[in-house]
Amino acid sequence: MSYARLSVDSDVYVYRSEQGYVCAMCYVFDDIPDLLAHLRDHLRSGDKVPEYAFVRLEDEWAAQLLGPETAGAILEAAEDWAKESGKPIEEARREMRDAATKQ
Ligand SMILES: [Zn+2]
Repeated sequence: MSYARLSVDSDVYVYRSEQGYVCAMCYVFDDIPDLLAHLRDHLRSGDKVPEYAFVRLEDEWAAQLLGPETAGAILEAAEDWAKESGKPIEEARREMRDAATKQ
């Protein structure tokens, strides 16, 4: 499964393999947080990394940490919160996920 493919919106090709989480032509990472940090480095150096790649990886990481049921409940709660607060949905989801996955 891929999180981002090379396209006009993306300078990276990121997917999951049996070896781990792969940023093609860079590295293979054991877990999602390391890959996310690497993708932020790409952004900082001016590469395009689509927002949906971060969203998919963050969703998956939350599901790994919390279990799919809890992660799903958090996403639903974030949708309600976004509606109430007028925050962009991605921001609401990220904040709620971060709060829930913080150790
Ligand atoms: Zn890379």
